[in-house]
Amino acid sequence: MKRLLFLAIAALVTLPSVAQDSFSESVDRLIDYHRGLVALENVTVFDGTGSEAKSDQTIIINGGTIQTVGASSEVNVPEGATRVDLKGHTVTPGLVGLHNHTFYTTSQRNIQLNYSAPMLYLASGVTTIRTTGSVAPYDEIELRAAIQDGEQAGPHMFITGPYLRGNEAWLRGPEDAARVTSYWAEEGVDWMKVYTQVTRAELAAVVEAAHEKGVQVTGHLCSISHTEAVELGIDSIEHNLMTNTDFVKDKEPDMCPTGPWRAEYENLDMNSEEVQNTFRIMIENGIGRTTTPAVYEMYVQGRPMADERSLAAMSPETREEYIASYKRFSVGGTPVKQWEQSRAYDLAFHRAGGLLAAGVDPTGFGGALPGYGDQRNYLLLLEGGFTPAEAVQIVSLNGAKILGIDDVTGSIEEGKRADLVVFEGDLSSDDDVITRARLVFKDGVGFNSGRMEEAIEGQIGVR
Ligand SMILES: [Zn+2]
Repeated sequence: MKRLLFLAIAALVTLPSVAQDSFSESVDRLIDYHRGLVALENVTVFDGTGSEAKSDQTIIINGGTIQTVGASSEVNVPEGATRVDLKGHTVTPGLVGLHNHTFYTTSQRNIQLNYSAPMLYLASGVTTIRTTGSVAPYDEIELRAAIQDGEQAGPHMFITGPYLRGNEAWLRGPEDAARVTSYWAEEGVDWMKVYTQVTRAELAAVVEAAHEKGVQVTGHLCSISHTEAVELGIDSIEHNLMTNTDFVKDKEPDMCPTGPWRAEYENLDMNSEEVQNTFRIMIENGIGRTTTPAVYEMYVQGRPMADERSLAAMSPETREEYIASYKRFSVGGTPVKQWEQSRAYDLAFHRAGGLLAAGVDPTGFGGALPGYGDQRNYLLLLEGGFTPAEAVQIVSLNGAKILGIDDVTGSIEEGKRADLVVFEGDLSSDDDVITRARLVFKDGVGFNSGRMEEAIEGQIGVR
């Protein structure tokens, strides 16, 4: 008896922590394929590694794992497999959203979307997120547990502690920074995020306290430049050219520059020594960056309004608030040249060998929705000059690399976790296919996108 009990405990301990086979009734109705043996046949595959698409492929999912991927003519579908003919569809890795809050803002509201955000992320094909600045870390810790326990549908979550803003804005110096970091590390966050106003001494203290507890640090910077942050030991960096003060002449240390420094970046040459030097320092230190074009686009003159389905997902009041702001910014917003420079900076960084990931950042005045905005990022990467294969890599495998989980997920390779998205149409010939996720496998469990989208309609901005 004792021995049996011991074996039972040993079996429990060796279970992968992500495995989840029992779901609440409300989650179960969102599932089309329970974990088992499934063959996705005759699909076009973008594997996430940056390789070109391959047509007429078959993927065998066994349990939570990708068992086989190869040409349909060569893959033997094992007996007993559930065969799904997906001719005319595309499969990519599950998207990895690296700046994906569970809160959402408009000009009038700042609200935790504990119900709709996780569901819309998953519906859109985002199978892993890092929250990258939390306004409610305990909510996120509970949400992560509810998803792991099968009580809620949502992505794998990496949780970030509260925004750490220094320079006597919120933190009162390095000791305070270390104390707050240690506290949240003990509570179970995976990352910490420093925000705009922070001193070098405070960032160094955050990094030291975080690393001591196995937690990593990222930042939306301003008072500290990107290369300074790398030298202080930061683990990743958020946003784009317009948050990097490396190229501001006579910048005062530890202070955000004043004056029209972003306008001066309109003349910055991406091939210049100073820009290439920043790239070199990031690359040599293995530090990646998360670009967030969907949230930046909102503020730029003359950009299109959020798409129909995004408007439908918002509550009526939220939609009114968004449209009012959109009308203001589409005329009086950021000059197009600054937007183009940011896009060029991302492309130059990637082409120089930099590790570029992406995330939606569903903040601003409300036009970039959880999940839908991650898909929008893909389209904006293409508009910025990336190839489809590069853009898929940026929204999947590169995020996994920054999180340190690329040996487990992020690409479609044999032995990796079965986190993948089935889109309707051929993504290699039609860019908009990225907006037509139909079936999302997470840990080998196939969720129906349409039913999840129905469940959140009218809820964005409310719950
Ligand atoms: Zn953010």
